[in-house]
Amino acid sequence: STPTAPSDTDAPASAALLARARAVTPGGVNSPVRAFRSVGGTPRFMVRGAGPYLTDADGTEYVDLVGSWGPMILGHAHPAVLDAVYDAASRGTSFGTPSENEVALAEEIVARIGPVDQVRLVSSGTEATMSAIRLARGFTGRPLVVKFAGHYHGHVDSLLVAAGSGVATLALPDSAGVPAQMAAETLVLPFNDVEALEAVFAARGDQIACVITEAAAGNMGVVTPQPGFTEALRRVTAEHGALLVTDEVMTGFRCSRAGWWGYEGVDVTPDLMTFGKVMGGGFPAAAFGGRADVMALLAPDGPVYQAGTLSGNPVATAAGLTTLQHCDDAVYARLDEVSRTISAAASSALAAAGVPHRVQHASSMFSVFFREGEVRDYDDARDQDTAAFGRFFHAMLSAGVYLPPSAFECWFVSAAHDDAAVQRILDALPAAAAAAA
Ligand code: PLP
Repeated sequence: STPTAPSDTDAPASAALLARARAVTPGGVNSPVRAFRSVGGTPRFMVRGAGPYLTDADGTEYVDLVGSWGPMILGHAHPAVLDAVYDAASRGTSFGTPSENEVALAEEIVARIGPVDQVRLVSSGTEATMSAIRLARGFTGRPLVVKFAGHYHGHVDSLLVAAGSGVATLALPDSAGVPAQMAAETLVLPFNDVEALEAVFAARGDQIACVITEAAAGNMGVVTPQPGFTEALRRVTAEHGALLVTDEVMTGFRCSRAGWWGYEGVDVTPDLMTFGKVMGGGFPAAAFGGRADVMALLAPDGPVYQAGTLSGNPVATAAGLTTLQHCDDAVYARLDEVSRTISAAASSALAAAGVPHRVQHASSMFSVFFREGEVRDYDDARDQDTAAFGRFFHAMLSAGVYLPPSAFECWFVSAAHDDAAVQRILDALPAAAAAAA
C-alpha cells in the first residue's frame, strides 16, 4: 500500500482524481514513476503549465523541476511552440503521408549532430532504441546486445534488464514478462568499467551486435562517463565489428545544441544515436539515426523493417522543430546558470543541515544523491538514503516546488526558469534540508 505523507491533506482534488483513476487504470497512472510510490503521498494531477510553473487540480502552483521528464526545455506553453502547433493542427493533424515538417525536423537534427547522416522519426524514445538495436542486429547479423546497469532505454523487452528510471524507483530486479531467452541476449555490465567491457568482448565479441549506452546516464541520477570510458567503448566495439549506439533521448539537445555529443570535449563518434524528449517539444516525437551505410538497411530500401502510423506526425514535428529553433546559445547559457544556482544552493542547504549528499552534473542536467562520495555506477547510485530524499521531496512539495518523485531521477530546468522561480526554490531549500536530516 502507498504510504501516506502529510502533504496529502493539501491535495483533496488530486486524491479524488487518483481514486477515480485507480478504478480504471493500474495504479491510477499511465507511467509508473508518476505514482509517487517511493516517496509516498498523493501524485498531483496537473491542470495547467505556464513557463516554469505547474498548477494542480486543487489550484496549488509549483515551480516545476521535472519538465515532463525532459521535453519542456523552453518551459510550459511556450508561445512560439503553441503558435506552431495551432498552425499545423489547423491544417490537419495526421496524414499518413510524408509532409514537409518531417523533412525540416530531420534536417535540423542532421545539422546539429555531426555523427548523424540520416534519421528516421518515430513517436517515443522506446521505439527509437528498439529500432536502433534491431538495425544493429540486422547490420551485423549478430544477436547480443551489451547494456549498462542502471541505464534506461525505454521499456523495450531486451533493454529492461537491470534498467534505471522507474524500474530503479520501484526496486524491481528486472521486469516480469521478459522471456529468459530474450534476457539472455542482453549482457549487462557495470557502467564505467573498462575491464568488464574488455572481458565480455574477449569472451563473446563475435556475437555482439552493439553496445548501447546512455551518452551520459540520467536514469540512475546523473552519472557521466569517466574520462576515457566512451573512447574505450568506441575502440573495443570497432575492434570486434560491433556497433556503438549512444542513447541521447534525455541528453540530446539539452546538454548542448547537439547533446552530450558536442558538449565540451565530447567527440567520440558512435555508429547510431537515439533522440526523443526535447526534439518533440512536448509532443510524441523521437528519432534514431547515424551512419548512412547502416541507415540504408532500413525498409523500404533495405531488409530491416520499421514503421509507425503516427511517425513524423505534422503537429509533433511542428512543435519539435520550433522548440529546436528556439534552442539557441542564450537558452543553453540560461539552463547552465539556473542549474548551477539551484544545485549549489541545494548542496549548501544540505551541508548546513548535516545531510550526506553528492551533486553530479552532465552540463545543465544534474541530480542530488543522498549519499557521500562520487557515484560512478548503479551500485553506487543505489547506495543512498532514499527515505531522506522522500522527506526532502515532501518538504519541497509543500513549499511549492515539484521535484522528480524519485531519488534516481535528474532535476530538469528550463529556459523559462526566471529569477522569481529560482528564488522560490532557493527559499524552500533550507527547511527541506532540515526535514531530510
Ligand atoms: N532512453 C532514455 C535515455 C530515456 O531517458 C528514456 C525515457 O526516459 C527513454 C529512452 C525512453 O523514452 P520514452 O519514454 O519516450 O519511450
